[in-house]
Amino acid sequence: MSDFEPRPDTCYPKTERSRIRREHHLGSYERADVHAILDASPLCHIGYVIDGAPFVTPTLHWRKGNRVYWHGSVGSRFLRQVDGAPVCVTCSLMDGYVLARSALNHAVNYRSAMLFGTAHVVDSLDEKAEALRDFTDDLFPGRWDSLRPMTEKEVKATSVLWMEVEEATVKVRTGPPNDADESDVPVWAGVLPMRTMLTTAQPAPELPTSIGLPDLLATLIASGRLR
Ligand SMILES: Cc1cc2nc3c(=O)[nH]c(=O)nc-3n(C[C@H](O)[C@H](O)[C@H](O)COP(=O)(O)OP(=O)(O)OC[C@H]3O[C@@H](n4cnc5c(N)ncnc54)[C@H](O)[C@@H]3O)c2cc1C
Repeated sequence: MSDFEPRPDTCYPKTERSRIRREHHLGSYERADVHAILDASPLCHIGYVIDGAPFVTPTLHWRKGNRVYWHGSVGSRFLRQVDGAPVCVTCSLMDGYVLARSALNHAVNYRSAMLFGTAHVVDSLDEKAEALRDFTDDLFPGRWDSLRPMTEKEVKATSVLWMEVEEATVKVRTGPPNDADESDVPVWAGVLPMRTMLTTAQPAPELPTSIGLPDLLATLIASGRLR
């Protein structure tokens, strides 16, 4: 990764808004890099402005091609007011604390993506149901077909929004602290790796013992992925 001119066929455009200035050697405009971080992190934060005041809302998201989707209750102020508005979506995964010999050189190993676009509400009930199916199966492959079907009332009570990704960037930091030149300082330095992961499944208390954990969920847990 470096301060290159992004290739138009594989990259998002480098614009005044998205040009990575700070530590640009950690950055990328590659669509594949952006999508990899979006897909690895189910959680995103969506920034928007209502009546001149900024808000940043954490929510789950999913991706279909170049579109990012998110959902919530029709009663959500965020979802009602953001239709047609510019939004900034960020996703970040922390991979480790980086401990250096001086306070200044401490850092974080991370993967993050920042995306820009305009939010739109999905109006059609059929498209909404289809999107909610994608959301469920994206998190838990094959689960939708095993569930009690969603009612029309439930679909109507749910908002789904989407955004075409217009510009997007990635920053990734890996590796040890950048202070090998201070190796004479007698203090521990290195990386404390960290990860968010699925652990042992906890069945609902009233779940009949005859219903075991589906293989697909067991595989997901074993994979170390979040979806
Ligand atoms: C988990 C985590 C912890 C961090 N901790 C710190 C910290 O403590 N202090 C600190 O200064 N920085 C931290 N960063 C980096 C921070 O996100 C910014 O990249 C940095 O502060 C520079 O911001 P800027 O607005 O000056 O960047 P600029 O380079 O001016 O931003 C210009 C454009 O670059 C892109 N961009 C900037 N940052 C990112 C990013 N992180 N991911 C993807 N695209 C990006 C965007 O398109 C943005 O519009 C952290 C990042 C992560 C993911």
